[in-house]
Amino acid sequence: MLEELYEEIILDHYRRPRNKGRVDPSDFTVHDSNPLCGDEIDITARLADGKIAELKFDGRGCAICMASASIMTQKLRGRTLLEAQQFIGGFLNMMRGETPFGGKELGDLKALEGVLKFPVRVKCATLAWNAALQGLRQPSSPSAPPEAGKPWSPSAPPEAGKPADKQS
Ligand code: ZN
Repeated sequence: MLEELYEEIILDHYRRPRNKGRVDPSDFTVHDSNPLCGDEIDITARLADGKIAELKFDGRGCAICMASASIMTQKLRGRTLLEAQQFIGGFLNMMRGETPFGGKELGDLKALEGVLKFPVRVKCATLAWNAALQGLRQPSSPSAPPEAGKPWSPSAPPEAGKPADKQS
């Protein structure tokens, strides 16, 4: 019964993928494939303020691969780069059967945990996540965050408020 439910979740994401397409322009694009199954995937993302502002996937593959990518885009959008990497790490651990991925975060991911019973399909489920991780680890984009210690408010007019020196 429970397994049927999980199957439903996967099929739902497969039939109605979320965030499918390409982010353009993108801060990173990663292509990865799983020759064993014929899965091909492209992950594109746009970053802003140290967060994943947009994340999309494109490609072709089996239901597990496509559903997993769809779920991933939903889970990672809006996270900081560090949070996203930690989240991916947690998921990959779960898919190695190491640490159960607990907590309220799980949601639709619970459906993918069932793939563990089919070791040949694990690569399908992790493909998008590994690709995203590669992208997030790429040496930083040109739009590096501004120096942390320097608060600079663009709204403060530089020196404008200072009355000019009296010119006698
Ligand atoms: Zn596959």
